[in-house]
Amino acid sequence: MIIEIVTMGEIPLKLPRDLAYKLEKIYAKLVDGCLVGASLGIPSAAYNAQRNQYDANLILNRLLHRITGENRVLGVFGVDLYTSSCNLNFIFGQAQCPGRVALISLHRLKSEYYGEKPNYKLLLKRATKEAVHELGHTFGLGHCSNLKCVMSFSNSISDVDKKSSAFCGVCEKKLHL
Ligand SMILES: [Zn+2]
Ligand SMILES: [Zn+2]
Repeated sequence: MIIEIVTMGEIPLKLPRDLAYKLEKIYAKLVDGCLVGASLGIPSAAYNAQRNQYDANLILNRLLHRITGENRVLGVFGVDLYTSSCNLNFIFGQAQCPGRVALISLHRLKSEYYGEKPNYKLLLKRATKEAVHELGHTFGLGHCSNLKCVMSFSNSISDVDKKSSAFCGVCEKKLHL
């Protein structure tokens, strides 16, 4: 099984390749590889002008059409996401659980969003955690109460920074890593 990374919107040029490398290592036992796929336009139907955000559910549905065979698709999104399925101001990402498609937004993972200097290394670290988390959902994992575990739910950037990019022992067992 292959994970295809597709990008939408403005994404640092190096990020998809660097992210693919990290995901290949972390999911080595479950996937055959991780490819950088197409760069797609953002579907204008996903834009909610009232919220100035994009509907993650609609984008996940669009990404579903790209899937072939057993493969998974991870969308890396340059702008802000929300979900109509629960009452949150924003989301870092969303996925089918279990399923084939996952989506992350870099918008609130960037240091610039918090008035700090751009920091590519930190952005990659955060994006890796959120990508591993959302893909974990596609493999059927729910949220984990261990705050260090990559499957713990992040409500803020400090939650993202607190957790690691690794699964705790319990989640690892469920995944059969
Ligand atoms: Zn989650
Ligand atoms: Zn866990």
